[in-house]
Amino acid sequence: MTDPSLSNVIVVLDEPQNLVNIAGVIRAMKNMGLSRLRVVKPAEWDPWRITGIAHRSEELVENTDHFLSLEAALEDCVMVLGTSARPREAQRNYDWARAWAPRLLKRAAQGPVALLFGREDRGLSNQALDLCDGVAIIPTDSDYSSLNLAQACLILAYEIFLSAQGEAPELPRGKRYTGPASRGEMEHMFQALEEGMERVDFFSARTPESVMRVIRTLLSRAEPDRQEAGLMAALGFEVRNQVDRLTHDGSRSDGGEEETGPPDHGLD
Ligand code: SAH
Repeated sequence: MTDPSLSNVIVVLDEPQNLVNIAGVIRAMKNMGLSRLRVVKPAEWDPWRITGIAHRSEELVENTDHFLSLEAALEDCVMVLGTSARPREAQRNYDWARAWAPRLLKRAAQGPVALLFGREDRGLSNQALDLCDGVAIIPTDSDYSSLNLAQACLILAYEIFLSAQGEAPELPRGKRYTGPASRGEMEHMFQALEEGMERVDFFSARTPESVMRVIRTLLSRAEPDRQEAGLMAALGFEVRNQVDRLTHDGSRSDGGEEETGPPDHGLD
């Protein structure tokens, strides 16, 4: 039987290459009470063969959602937890799988959360990791850290399953709490900040990608709610619009559309 808090945990497979691994992931999900799968451009997808390996998984396979981009697969998620065998060059919000499990479940009480796995040959790209609020690592022998995709999924799902047994009740919140920002709202915020920083020439001697990666890591760790993310987006857009106004003396010379502008930050 599926625990209600587990029903918001979505396993997302980014470009899985091997059908046997997809079936292994599905078995692991069934074992651990997870029922929602999203796949982004799988190399092969054959429900008949999958259900031949993962018995009694017809419903899960049938309900699997297919996406052409990872951004679209994560858009509505209020938390995205990536997974990786080892830290990469950039500093990110890394922690052990066991430490992430209760945090992921806490978020799952508020909306859909994604548990994201990379492809077998190269794992998650830096761009995919940029979409993650944090990255879970399963501790292994340092000489042989890369687990098979389905085995990694089983361990993560097991940690989440165990954590769901002893879940703490939800925290009381202030009246103005707006709920966690979705991935789409987080991306909107980063876009706004990048545009604002670009207008004040912040990137002149810096690489926008690496600066933005630090900002992503920092703001993801802050776990902004929707209002907070909206406020940060408003900050970026306001800087951009002010600079544009000053530069163009009140009229836009590029004839471009005034963008939606700062969203209402609801602070009044
Ligand atoms: N060759 C790739 C490994 C990919 S394994 C690399 O070195 O990055 C496929 C996927 O399984 C990974 O993208 C990750 O999602 C998961 N995975 C494998 N080992 C893991 C570990 N030790 N901790 C967390 N996730 C792991």
